[in-house]
Amino acid sequence: MPTPAAPDHFDLLVIGAGSGGLAAAKRAASYGAKVAIVEGDRVGGTCVIRGCVPKKLLVYGAAYRQWLADAPSHGWLPLQAEGLRCDPPRLFAAVRAEVDRLHDLHLGFLKTAGVELVPGWGRFVDEHTVAVTDSRGEGRRLRGERILIAVGGRPVRPPLAGADLGWVSDDLFELRELPQRVAVVGGGFIACEFAGILHGLGVEVIQIVRGERILRGFDAEAAAHVQEAMVAGGIDVRTSTVPGAIERDGEGLSLRTASGETIGCGGVLLATGRRPFLEGLHLEAAGVQVVDRRIPVDPDQATTVSHIFAVGDVTDRINLTPVAIDEGRAFADSTYGNLPRRVNHDLVASAVFSQPELATVGLSEEEALRRHGSEGVRVHRARFRPMTQALAKRGPAVLLKLVVEVASDRVLGCHMVGDHAAEIIQMAAIAVGMGATKADFDRTMALHPTVAEEFVTMAS
Ligand code: FAD
Repeated sequence: MPTPAAPDHFDLLVIGAGSGGLAAAKRAASYGAKVAIVEGDRVGGTCVIRGCVPKKLLVYGAAYRQWLADAPSHGWLPLQAEGLRCDPPRLFAAVRAEVDRLHDLHLGFLKTAGVELVPGWGRFVDEHTVAVTDSRGEGRRLRGERILIAVGGRPVRPPLAGADLGWVSDDLFELRELPQRVAVVGGGFIACEFAGILHGLGVEVIQIVRGERILRGFDAEAAAHVQEAMVAGGIDVRTSTVPGAIERDGEGLSLRTASGETIGCGGVLLATGRRPFLEGLHLEAAGVQVVDRRIPVDPDQATTVSHIFAVGDVTDRINLTPVAIDEGRAFADSTYGNLPRRVNHDLVASAVFSQPELATVGLSEEEALRRHGSEGVRVHRARFRPMTQALAKRGPAVLLKLVVEVASDRVLGCHMVGDHAAEIIQMAAIAVGMGATKADFDRTMALHPTVAEEFVTMAS
């Protein structure tokens, strides 16, 4: 029997070339560490290949529907009677081409950083060794003084008869054409974003939500505002509806609800949740503890094995790209750069790129009330038609909301629904993170005419 080849030795072995893994690998290499990164799929991970980036490009594509519809109200008239029509396959192809460009860019970044890319799926052999098998079935053994697990998450299909007939979010980016009608199952941010994208691209969308409203966990008033606007815009949002089964129906599909209703459609998107991707990693060979299907870590990203670390979605803390990147960099700075630091998981701003867009930082009104009681919290809000709609005379109102602690006057939460909400809340997050008070907001001179000026002119 041939003896296995001697494993290659690295200071740091990273499993997973997504947001967290790439950030950690490059940062560690910049301090002189010998680093290898193992990736079974395309370099870039969820965000670049099948998440934030292609999704946002599709959101932009879908938004043209409303802009073009409103253009005549601002004096723009089509030159030809038939005007413009959307060609989704063309948009999807353009998005895929951009993803290819970014993928190549990331390969270049790794090369420049001096990080060795090892293509293939990694699995632990022991607490210092990872075996990698590439797409041709060839294997290699790597040894790391330290190992970083950055394998991210995967969409989960709900336990539904016929669930295999539905799509998950990954599949949407691979579509060559769109059906006329799609059922979107789920009320979370990915479900709402895809409902908006599909609707904007001319698809009839029925969104099936188990709970009483979409976007559970977000400020309830802001979430309700998004839901109202989605419904008014033409998305058929059916709350308190439980999906039962997906069945083939001639050329298409039908989604049966638990109450027996049947929804005929050309496709069903199952956007009901994601889970850390631990399959095939053989964590037991390294003795890494798993709790509730995620890898728990301490504030320095260490797992229960002191030289094995984990960052990003596999730890299931705050599953966002900038968080994964910062966790990866903090690990590398602390371990290889002699710059010990910890990630601040408080006051992380986030957005839902639905139509309309929702963005938020800090506490929802409900969470603030839970922590400080009804006497301890003051809420300021503004709801109005933005100037972008003054001529078109249609479209959803914007909502801006500040949740303030009475005792300190500190702004605990800042929420917005409307165009550019994410861009505006990103800036507000600086103020909220610095502990700004309502008086600080009020003292700030307005920038007129804008939507965001309402944040500094709201009545006290
Ligand atoms: P990932 O980026 O998922 O990378 C993990 C990598 O590990 C993958 O490339 C995978 O192939 C690889 N891998 C897994 N197992 C192995 C193995 N055994 N061997 C080798 N390689 C392996 N976040 C935002 O901040 N803003 C957004 O707008 C946003 N939109 C999103 C939209 C969608 C549709 C989705 C699904 C996610 C979105 N996210 C968004 C979340 C964001 O993409 C993730 O939080 C982020 O990518 C997590 O980074 P990560 O490094 O933990 O994992």
